[in-house]
Amino acid sequence: KPGENENKAAQSLLNKLIRNNLVNTTNQVEVLQKDPNSPLYSVKSFEELRLKPQLLQGVYAMGFNRPSKIQETALPMMLAEPPQNLIAQSQSGTGKTAAFVLAMLSHVDPNNKFPQCLCVSPTYELALQTGKVIEQMGKYYPEVQLVYAIRGNKLQRGMKLQEQIVIGTPGTMLDWCSKFKFIDPKKIKVFVLDEADVMIATQGHQDQSIRIQRMLPKNCQMLLFSATFEESVWSFAQRIVPEPNIIKLKREEETLDTIKQYYVLCNSKEEKFEALCNIYGAITIAQAMIFCHTRKTAGWLAGELSREGHQVALLSGEMQVEQRAAVIERFRDGKEKVLVTTNVCARGIDVEQVSVVINFDLPVDKDGNPDNETYLHRIGRTGRFGKRGLAINMVDSRMSMNILNRIQEHFNKKIEKLNTDDLDEIE
Ligand code: ADP
Repeated sequence: KPGENENKAAQSLLNKLIRNNLVNTTNQVEVLQKDPNSPLYSVKSFEELRLKPQLLQGVYAMGFNRPSKIQETALPMMLAEPPQNLIAQSQSGTGKTAAFVLAMLSHVDPNNKFPQCLCVSPTYELALQTGKVIEQMGKYYPEVQLVYAIRGNKLQRGMKLQEQIVIGTPGTMLDWCSKFKFIDPKKIKVFVLDEADVMIATQGHQDQSIRIQRMLPKNCQMLLFSATFEESVWSFAQRIVPEPNIIKLKREEETLDTIKQYYVLCNSKEEKFEALCNIYGAITIAQAMIFCHTRKTAGWLAGELSREGHQVALLSGEMQVEQRAAVIERFRDGKEKVLVTTNVCARGIDVEQVSVVINFDLPVDKDGNPDNETYLHRIGRTGRFGKRGLAINMVDSRMSMNILNRIQEHFNKKIEKLNTDDLDEIE
């Protein structure tokens, strides 16, 4: 589908920009070792890793106290001598980037003024985000330098790079290694391929990555990361990473158990707006996210709400990714209390601290059937860390009542009727 790959990259970028801490996980990692007889090391502290002091200092300056679930096993593997190859899969926000950045920084020799680590990302913006992590973590290790292999970064013909770490997109990285020879691929010690699932969604990235990989020496450490692992990602991963160790961390299941779900019966969008105002008048809502089906409704509702004196943020499909990120960041930081968005726009975005979710329109797929997955992701909370939440669904026709009933049946969880003239019950 056209646009699908851009969406994946945009979603991934938004989630990175939004997230400023680890996802809580109760699940255990699954490990498949290349050599099942070798002992499996796992660490509970960064000290155990015997990092260079400058790097340990960088890690602590970032506010990390202990390795994340995936880092506990991934880091000892990546830092082992001789280096081990790794394929790792876990949802976004579990500490993959921080892990491979630490591996790259640990393996470079700052005295050698040539590239030793290559890291490929699906887009320029994602590469930039990883670059920022390298800079933060390497703050006390200024001898190590970083350069971006991205279109638009034009270098003089015949020059040789001096930076130890090169991060960029597959096309430019390949050109720099083969056509322009800014990089000598034979000197690379660590090759990282990040966001493999997003990567393969873009035409050409898979081949370019494989061509880069083939230029690298046999003893180069190959590391591949992905948030999801469908068959296509897996077969790509195996072409990039020979003799891999494999680490998987199951996604935390979302549940509706800690959520109070209600519906409100109305006759028009104006009535839905009125009901919304009544709800706002009756209960204190720290932050709410409101989902609409179309841009037009979202725009209208945002306008009406600000006329009522609310500080409203509007997330809309025609916005650039950067603009969307800025809106979400402001909301995350509490600068706005209400975020109005279209269904499509906020798909796959995690805003965990929101305690009230309002479906101004119920989520439906393109055939008009209930989109249960989106409903769950929007409203559900993960595991036992989930705070209690409140979800309010606005119903304005027989059709939407039918959708609501089907959602209720699907999850086998009662959605109670709410009378907005008498709201004592919800608080
Ligand atoms: P992923 O690459 O899996 O999406 P990140 O490495 O970007 O995950 O980590 C997600 C967030 O958690 C980031 O804000 C990062 O700074 C933070 N983080 C990563 N590792 C740790 C850790 N060990 N302790 C605390 N925070 C961490």
